[in-house]
Amino acid sequence: NKKLLDIKQLKTYFYSDEGVVPAVDGVDIAIFEGETVGIVGESGCGKSVTSLTAMRLTPGKVVGGSIEFDGKDLLAISEAEMRSIRGNEMAMIFQEPMTSLNPVFTIGQQIGEAVQIHMNYSKQQAKTHAVEMLKLVGIPRPEQIVDEYPHQLSGGMRQRVMIAMAMSCQPKLLIADEPTTALDVTIQAQILDLMRKLRAERNTSIMMITHDLGVVAEMCDRVIVMYSGKVVEEGDVVTIFTNPQHPYTQGLMKSIPTLDSNEKRLYSIKGNVPIPGSLREGCSFAPRCEYAMDVCRRQAPQLEEVESGHSSRCWLHSSDQGETRNENTAH
Ligand code: SF4
Ligand code: MG
Repeated sequence: NKKLLDIKQLKTYFYSDEGVVPAVDGVDIAIFEGETVGIVGESGCGKSVTSLTAMRLTPGKVVGGSIEFDGKDLLAISEAEMRSIRGNEMAMIFQEPMTSLNPVFTIGQQIGEAVQIHMNYSKQQAKTHAVEMLKLVGIPRPEQIVDEYPHQLSGGMRQRVMIAMAMSCQPKLLIADEPTTALDVTIQAQILDLMRKLRAERNTSIMMITHDLGVVAEMCDRVIVMYSGKVVEEGDVVTIFTNPQHPYTQGLMKSIPTLDSNEKRLYSIKGNVPIPGSLREGCSFAPRCEYAMDVCRRQAPQLEEVESGHSSRCWLHSSDQGETRNENTAH
């Protein structure tokens, strides 16, 4: 299987009067053709900035690393080339479709726009295509909806329209950032079903950004856990759910709501994600970690393989015991 997206040591920093925030701080993410990879973590951990950087839409500054997509170096190509990839070979759906749908254009015009730009469709062809896409995403009365405006649709319908827009050029990679978070459970299940169907029909790769581990369990082949701008654990979905190694991942797993609880995304991990870069030394999870040792506060652990295809960034299972070993032998 071929690597479609290959992000290496990516660094996206934000600069302000208060200082530098390394929102994405040396992140590696690979996504293979047809694969669905979940990027998980609480808000503020760098998931969205990573995906926006991959689309070259980040408001931050890329200060290091590389992004290769389908053999192209995305950080080196021109803005014109990037525009032809964006919305065409790479497409994105967001949590709140109202912010990405334009209120003054009809649904048909918006779905049709991408194929008019990227595939040179005529207006009439674009409209016919839009109707087909609306059918594909299960919108009832597509011939009528195609001439309606976003505000005339429900939230679930708007999210379907977003998916229709994103899928209309048959992208190789779909980036979905909290695609179902704002929707009720029934609509959420329908949207996930729809994404699975599209993936099966078109072999689309999906980067699924979410803090909802239920979505990850249902959709993903592989999981990347991010914390404070870094990848802290990575593995296939079964491994991450059954044998999480990093204390942060273990905390996330404990906070999965049970079936009889209505409370969603209830975190049992005390404290908040630190602003990336605010802790100058050591493991950024140390202030919240029940296993934190002296070495954790002094020296940052590296991402290391704990078994084949499964990596974690934690001193607990690191082969290199850092300074502690030196100290112990010195005393
Ligand atoms: Fe906890 Fe230390 Fe592991 Fe960080 S390195 S997660 S503080 S045990
Ligand atoms: Mg986000």
